[in-house]
Amino acid sequence: MSYLSLYRQWRPQTFEDIVGQDHIVRTLKNAIANGRVVHAYMFSGPRGTGKTSTAKVFAKALNCAEGPTVKPCGECTSCVAVKEGNALDVIEIDAASNRGIDEIRDLRDKVRFTPAQGRYKVYIIDEVHMLTMEAFNALLKTLEEPPSHAIFVLATTEANRVPATILSRCQRFDFNRLNLAQLTKHLTKVADQMGIAYEKDALTLLARKAEGSARDALGLMEQVSALGEKLTPKLISDMLGATEFERLEGIAAAIASSDVRGLFPLVSDTLMSGTDPRQLLGEMGEHFMDLMLAKDCPARKDLLHSGEERFDQLKKASEAFEGSRLQEIVSSIGVGLAEIGKAPNPRLSLELFLARLVNAGQGVKAQPVAAAEAAPSRHAVPVPKAPAAAPAVKAEGKKEVADAGKKETAAQAAPVAEKAAEGQQKTEAPAFWGQLLDELRLRSIRVEALVRQSRPSFDGTTLTLEYPSNWFFHHQKMQEETNQNLMKEVLKAVTGTEIGYKCVLLGDGDKDRPEKEKPAESKDKPSRVAPRKSKKSKIEEAEKGGEAAFDEIEIEDEKVKKSVEMAKALFGEVEIKVVED
Ligand SMILES: [Zn+2]
Repeated sequence: MSYLSLYRQWRPQTFEDIVGQDHIVRTLKNAIANGRVVHAYMFSGPRGTGKTSTAKVFAKALNCAEGPTVKPCGECTSCVAVKEGNALDVIEIDAASNRGIDEIRDLRDKVRFTPAQGRYKVYIIDEVHMLTMEAFNALLKTLEEPPSHAIFVLATTEANRVPATILSRCQRFDFNRLNLAQLTKHLTKVADQMGIAYEKDALTLLARKAEGSARDALGLMEQVSALGEKLTPKLISDMLGATEFERLEGIAAAIASSDVRGLFPLVSDTLMSGTDPRQLLGEMGEHFMDLMLAKDCPARKDLLHSGEERFDQLKKASEAFEGSRLQEIVSSIGVGLAEIGKAPNPRLSLELFLARLVNAGQGVKAQPVAAAEAAPSRHAVPVPKAPAAAPAVKAEGKKEVADAGKKETAAQAAPVAEKAAEGQQKTEAPAFWGQLLDELRLRSIRVEALVRQSRPSFDGTTLTLEYPSNWFFHHQKMQEETNQNLMKEVLKAVTGTEIGYKCVLLGDGDKDRPEKEKPAESKDKPSRVAPRKSKKSKIEEAEKGGEAAFDEIEIEDEKVKKSVEMAKALFGEVEIKVVED
């Protein structure tokens, strides 16, 4: 007998074999039992979730000698033919392979003929969204007037690419990605019956790698079991590059305790074992997400990426993180993932990112809020209540914004800004302030960042946001019509009533306006009277800490200018460090 892959051997043969799609199985069985089978079905969902397998079981059930039945016998000519893939009345068309023009034409010609053996002709069209317009039109004609013996099962991973005219003629079923518990259970069953030796954690790790696809899970298990060794987390990790739970746990613990000496060897070992830096950061994202869920959402153990049985461990580990630190880490990993994808040296990028993460943790712990407000430190964000800080741009080396520079700003400024906002909430903010920020964050992170840095006041009918007199950018942004509308909308959503919204600058700003913000008097005349210093001397002066010197550094590079503007929009007048890559 020729070799059959695990996936083929374990392809569902009955409705009971189908994993994780109970809602669909129940409806199909009801339709068969009550004689309410329709002519066209749309099975949509991610790959490897059982769409074509379900279609085949369905075909078997309809054409079984003892059927139509919800329990096809598996032994009659029809059942065997479907299983072997040579049933004359079950026609499979792969729309992805040649876009289906000839097949659909053929289908149109032959669909009228009665079935050769069974009751029904079942057409299974896989990846139906790949059909050409011409093929779709031909299919539509057939779907409009299907012969009584024809059943169509259209399967797709992208239902949104199927024309509405086709969709509207189908009964649609959405197949779910399998969750970790379902996949692990399935793998356990297969491993037990195939006599594959395993450690439980190894199967969880495999299931995690399969990302909801039963086909991928079995494929991966087949790949690692081919060695003939017992499946252990280490083996899986070595072969597939999936990081073991213990390792991620170690990395998280090192970050929690700002243990640089423990952290970097662990990360280095993990990368040396073949894990891609991007993948590791992604897995860290999942792990910190799990820690956050264990801490804040203990009722939903089923959401854990690393499996429900890890809950107690995660919960305990999460206690090492204070306040909103886990949320901060998760959100900076989100930013880090976007950046590491573009980084020329992902490994270095990951290490720098981790260094900043550790740093940020120390910063928050070491620096009380009051101190941060009184004396803006290297990574403090000015708070609106304090006298407005002059925009400071420090240039080091070439004017090129390295990933490192941007992330430093992000990782270090954010927690302090949070603290500042917390401080404000106690004294100034209306009761719904926190909710307002939460809601805004869902709609626009950018606007939320602008709003968070304002000083809010509420008189019962109107919410007023105040900014220091020279925060023109914030003021202008929050005056824009789209943002005004967004604010009103969100205010209504969180309070349930119409609330007015206003945004003001404190004092009369124009005399304080920094020179570079003023409209240029003339395009040709230099806007500055003072003798120009050489760039080098300005930088040196800036290094010594003179604010005036900061202000005088001009940014010529358009790219840098843009980045600085963006950073200002997000973090306020934060000190921006431009470093060489
Ligand atoms: Zn049968």
